[in-house]
Amino acid sequence: MNVSNSKMKSFDEYYEKNMKNTELEYGNDNTSDKTKSNNKFDSDIKHNNRNAGYKGMKGNNYKNSNKNFDNNKHNNHNDNAKQNDFNKQTNNNGASKQNNNINSNSNSISSNISGNHSYIEKMTAKNRKFLENYNPRKNSKIKIIPLGGLNTIGMNITLIEDENDIIIIDCGNAFPTEDLLGIDLVIPDVTYLKKNQNKIRGLVLTHGHEDHIGAIPYIFKEINVPIYGTRLTLALVEGKLKEHKITNYKLNTVNFSDIVKLGNMYVEFIKTNHSIVDSAALAIYTKAGIIMHTGDFKVDYTPVFGDAIDLPHFAEIGRMGVLALLSDSTNAIKPGFTMSERTVGKMFDAIFNEHNNDRIIVSTFASNVDRVRQVIDTASRYGRKVAIEGKSMINIINIATALGYINVPKGTLIQTDMLKNFPDAKTVIITTGSQGESMAALSRMAQGANKKISIKAGDVVILSSSPIPGNEKAVNRIIDELYRLHATVIYQDTHVSGHACAEELKLIYTLVNPKYAIPVHGEYRHRKEAANLAESVGVEKKKCLLLEIGDVLSICEDSAEIIDRIPANGIYVDGLGVGDVGNIVLRDRQTLATGGMVIIAMALSDASSELVSGPDIISKGFVYMKESEDLINGLKAVVRDAIKEYKKENSNDWKKLKSMVTTVAEDYLWKVIKREPLVIPVIISV
Ligand SMILES: [Zn+2]
Ligand SMILES: [Zn+2]
Repeated sequence: MNVSNSKMKSFDEYYEKNMKNTELEYGNDNTSDKTKSNNKFDSDIKHNNRNAGYKGMKGNNYKNSNKNFDNNKHNNHNDNAKQNDFNKQTNNNGASKQNNNINSNSNSISSNISGNHSYIEKMTAKNRKFLENYNPRKNSKIKIIPLGGLNTIGMNITLIEDENDIIIIDCGNAFPTEDLLGIDLVIPDVTYLKKNQNKIRGLVLTHGHEDHIGAIPYIFKEINVPIYGTRLTLALVEGKLKEHKITNYKLNTVNFSDIVKLGNMYVEFIKTNHSIVDSAALAIYTKAGIIMHTGDFKVDYTPVFGDAIDLPHFAEIGRMGVLALLSDSTNAIKPGFTMSERTVGKMFDAIFNEHNNDRIIVSTFASNVDRVRQVIDTASRYGRKVAIEGKSMINIINIATALGYINVPKGTLIQTDMLKNFPDAKTVIITTGSQGESMAALSRMAQGANKKISIKAGDVVILSSSPIPGNEKAVNRIIDELYRLHATVIYQDTHVSGHACAEELKLIYTLVNPKYAIPVHGEYRHRKEAANLAESVGVEKKKCLLLEIGDVLSICEDSAEIIDRIPANGIYVDGLGVGDVGNIVLRDRQTLATGGMVIIAMALSDASSELVSGPDIISKGFVYMKESEDLINGLKAVVRDAIKEYKKENSNDWKKLKSMVTTVAEDYLWKVIKREPLVIPVIISV
């Protein structure tokens, strides 16, 4: 190995002295520029031609060809020197107020600093020092372990692990697919985390959607861990924890550009855009290199509220050299760009303008604060009052208003009871239920089951969302119901996605320029397409990794290898039961749903195994008994025969008898009627 020991040692010492044991202190003010740059370049480690391989699960062995690329990115003095200049320049050119701010090493971001795109200006001196001194060790390895978020929609959770520490990124649930009968939620299996409890340093959250925070209350009962996230995200988490009557939590609010120290890793929160405000990408500074995780994101140059995604900082971190990028792939198969949230506002404007004599009802996701904000703004511009219906909608609007993310013009919001005091043409109702959920407000309004509001002829109903895969039928059903009521239903062009399309993904892969691309958040085809995009902008093909849930990926600059696989099947939540419903129960439920149930009841003499009464047949969802006499009699006959057989054997094993009865009954029913009900023998001994 060509690594200079003395150089490694010097960084170790630096790391120990200046970074370890310092909570949120990443730089040493007394470090002279000279020392800094020495440290900065001290990993001038030349790669030898180490062959290393990414061993996929199927035993693929990818050889690593050492490219100049590596050296350009990390070891080019000129480049780094330029970067230094750039930093200095930005300091010098900044407003004087800003300079004061930086000189005084204040940790607060001056509110006078404006502009959407200036991370460098916003960055505190501490953060800058940290980044200048950050210096990964080329021979260090880091593990990336997805416990969900691949191949399933939702249940996003990924672990980053080094020798001493584990960081958990997100902890979401998935909603059950149609074959998971009776299951309310699917949550990640955290067995591995329970075993490694002492290594867990924190749970860092990218944003407040259910598929990223929904499992927290369930796993929190097993693993208590400090939680880090932005304001809205944590407000939503807190609501969940309270709902589950959990009190012993520690929530740490993080601002964009904050860097949080978690063990020997540092996590920076970077502004992105998504269909919920306060979404963040994460840059995780580890000893092995920088791992970036985009969370769910899109590029919105003209967001409705707050800043655009911090592309300059993505680029800046890219220049520092990123080991791996875990990126949202949801829309990878869609070409082009996702439209700005603002385009929906324009559509609202056109609809309000056209339908100025009718009541307008807008249904959207409760969590889409920007969308709700645009409805309220448009309503206020057209002099309409706004009523909110639906518990989750009211809850989120309250939180968002308290945080200042929605600014409701005075006198615009009214209680639903007050609607009757205003002409229809002067009102707007914002409601949940855009996914056709039968218990949500919109469905209930359409069915006349909502006490305060019913849909009537002439109402204009805007569905401002697109169906989540799996919900299409339910959404179509509600659209039909609304049409039947002679409402005008508008569901085209009234929604934009919160996820990046192909061109945006190319942009991010280009800016971040990662050594490894690890597409996440998507089914296999989405992730495969994202890998193709990464490759098209310069990531080596063999370094585009498609992982499976539970894979333990160990990576460093030169190699990536799946070294283990840990249990990571989803755990089913049914009512109050967590994990008690497994595959066997589900198989029975499926059999019941498709074939119904046949109970075969009989009484046997304990002493002689003689049939005392029965067999009686009870059908539930199998056949209509009164019209199936022949079938039932035939069934009784084969059961009697089975009992005779059993008697011959002279054994006293009723378990065996039960299994014999089940088998002959199943065979008979399949032969005669080609059906497969669940057969349950019940034997009473007398
Ligand atoms: Zn999301
Ligand atoms: Zn998501």
